[in-house]
Amino acid sequence: MDIITRDRQYVASTYGRFPVALVKGRGARCWDSEGKEYIDLTSGIGVNSLGFCDPEWAEAVSGQLTTLQHTSNLYYTGPGAALAETLCLRSGMRKAFFGNSGAEANEGAVKAARKWGHARRGPDCHNIVTLKGSFHGRTLAALAATGQDQFHKDFHPFPAGFSYAEPNDISSLESLADGNTCAVMVEFVQGEGGVRALDQSYVDAVAKLCRERDILLIGDEVQTGIGRVGTLFAYERYGVKPDIVTCAKGLGGGLPIGAILFGEKTETTLKPGDHASTFGANPAVCAGALVVLNRLDDDGLRHVNETSKIIRSRLSNIVKRYTGMEPWIGGLGLMIGMDVPYVSAKEVVSAGIRHGALTLTARDRLRLLPPLNITPEETEEALRRLEKAGGSLV
Ligand SMILES: *Cc1c(COP(=O)(O)O)cnc(C)c1O
Repeated sequence: MDIITRDRQYVASTYGRFPVALVKGRGARCWDSEGKEYIDLTSGIGVNSLGFCDPEWAEAVSGQLTTLQHTSNLYYTGPGAALAETLCLRSGMRKAFFGNSGAEANEGAVKAARKWGHARRGPDCHNIVTLKGSFHGRTLAALAATGQDQFHKDFHPFPAGFSYAEPNDISSLESLADGNTCAVMVEFVQGEGGVRALDQSYVDAVAKLCRERDILLIGDEVQTGIGRVGTLFAYERYGVKPDIVTCAKGLGGGLPIGAILFGEKTETTLKPGDHASTFGANPAVCAGALVVLNRLDDDGLRHVNETSKIIRSRLSNIVKRYTGMEPWIGGLGLMIGMDVPYVSAKEVVSAGIRHGALTLTARDRLRLLPPLNITPEETEEALRRLEKAGGSLV
């Protein structure tokens, strides 16, 4: 049986996959079971920050794997402590908790925010306002926090206490946030919701409202964090400081990890016994994440911003050439969303596959999340292939 047949027979049918079985990768390039080469502009949905099988990352992970692969959180280990230190020093946050995914990080953030609210204003202070169009994960509380009805149907009842404000409209948040609100949770750039960056003035107003009404600001940086938008975290670009930050996707460079970062107000909220994760802070995963962070130094982040400019202007030119229209291109850094006129984003993704470039959609938009260290040569070749893919659709 080939890979695709076996998968279709035995793997639960939760994913609509493309008819491609990937077998190996290096840098931004990967190959399928037929030997066809692709340039990857997806990073496994924002996960492979350093591309496929980066040698330094792979060596750190495999070195740790042959030294000490897991201990449980009953003991101290070096990589987890070092990763927490690096994250705190570079984010300005005070403490880190490690889990295994974005949804799990957001669940922990919700728990911390509620405990903070209870201590602050009593047990009714447990409500969390999120934004319409947001995506916070697939577990029940993270799904309840997600402001998109399409993900909710069939799974009721949800944990109570979530409401959804209109993004970029502070009056909507003003009317939803009251004395029983413990937190406002936002993605600074909505990813799954269509790669839409929040307006600067809106983020300023949200931060001000949270300050004035004594409400925590939670930044869901699961997709935007770890260099993706050209700063280590998106909140830096906006000049605000959340009280809790969650991150996951790009942190492990391809291995599962999620982190909750706590600021001054929340660093001691969760006490021993309040929260835990069996697999959290896995030493091998943390060793890889340290390489990811070290590579995203000033030069690494500058590369993200420069590559972002090149890709955005070339995409715009390609669409203009074929359609005569200037496309909407959104997002920040190497989190890129684009409206494609005349055809569906899905058709562009399929054409990309035929021409050897892997891309994503976000709702009805084309979405690119290239590896953060994609080389100029890989970028150029990917754009050439996308241009051909576009040409095949007109
Ligand atoms: C992907 C994503 C999540 C969920 O992460 P998982 O690791 O799939 O649980 C949560 N929030 C945002 C903003 C995301 O992009």
